[in-house]
Amino acid sequence: MPRAQLQYLTDELNKLREQNLYQRLRVLETEQLPVSRFDGREVINLSSNNYLGFTTHPKLRERALEAIRKFGVGSGAVRTIAGTMSIHLELEEKIARFKHVEASVVFQSGFTANAGTVQAILGREDVIISDQLNHASLIDGCRLSRAEIKIFPHKDLDACESVLKEIAGRNCRKLLVTDGVFSMDGDIAPLPQLVELAEKYGCIMMIDDAHASGVLGRNGRGTVDHYKLHGRVDIQVGTLSKAIGALGGYVCSTRDAIEFLYHRARPFLFSTSHPPSVAATCLAAFEVLEEEPQLIDRLWVNTRFFKEGLKKLGFNTGASETPITPVIVGDAALAHQFSRDLFAAGVFAQGIGFPTVPEGKARIRTIVTATHTQEELTRALDILEGVGKKLKII
Ligand code: PMP
Repeated sequence: MPRAQLQYLTDELNKLREQNLYQRLRVLETEQLPVSRFDGREVINLSSNNYLGFTTHPKLRERALEAIRKFGVGSGAVRTIAGTMSIHLELEEKIARFKHVEASVVFQSGFTANAGTVQAILGREDVIISDQLNHASLIDGCRLSRAEIKIFPHKDLDACESVLKEIAGRNCRKLLVTDGVFSMDGDIAPLPQLVELAEKYGCIMMIDDAHASGVLGRNGRGTVDHYKLHGRVDIQVGTLSKAIGALGGYVCSTRDAIEFLYHRARPFLFSTSHPPSVAATCLAAFEVLEEEPQLIDRLWVNTRFFKEGLKKLGFNTGASETPITPVIVGDAALAHQFSRDLFAAGVFAQGIGFPTVPEGKARIRTIVTATHTQEELTRALDILEGVGKKLKII
């Protein structure tokens, strides 16, 4: 039934269609696997964040089922009322030990962890210094905090320091915040230098390690461990939704900072906590990170193999250093065409254009996992070569 008061939304949608920006959701009809069926088609899946294959790991699946039998399917309340279950605390203790920090708190998603934390710890009178390519959840948190936001060009340390100098005399709190691994380009933040700047100018240092958790550092401990910066980053956020294979986000910091978030982080206060099965899955995932480090080795072998293959074929993979490898083609319409033709030929790699990436930097994004076989990756490279040549990208 058309509703007159919602007609403007239909108009907006039609505009997206005219600009070729309308996106239909692809539907996954199997488990999330290296070769999965989307929209009725078996394709080599280069679009998931399932870095270690944990979405279907037998131990994680079993522990989720066990938790459902033991604790039921839901927590029934927000954390601050009746929704803190012993298994939530067990998970938070496990994460804190794993990350070598005093304490951690789990949120419903990485998005709410970032947005809820930044919003809670800063106010109108404060300043945030933020990398231009930081994730949307950090951007939303910055906006919600009402602090002044100073954005520096991506990884530009001189520009970052200029901002810090400019505000050096101000009597306010300063937050320097960066992604650990940038989600569209797959490059790593210059964290050692950023930490030095934060220390020099008295900033709170925060990192969003969504794409580094389970990927970088010993057993996937993240960017802080990768660069051996333990004790020098005030707030680390990680996700439980990517390499960990389930859903959620976590914040690591001092015990008091975490308890402050219990009192002020709005998603923690006002949104129901995880079902116990999710907490159980994540607990098992952290055990597997320690028991099966070969999975991370495999991820990196596949990453190097695939990235080198793309480069040899002449594709522009930008500044990627991690399993996220973009293939940059420039024009958004071409990127979407590339993605559609790849899909028809048996490879799923999402096309991404403005505003998710800057204009003129449209791309398809590929992500390999530990569970792809070399045969699958070789087949994917063959298909990329064929479609890339047909579209004159290479
Ligand atoms: N930060 C980054 C850099 C991300 O890529 C994402 C996921 N898109 C998030 C945070 C949010 O994580 P989640 O999916 O757990 O909400």
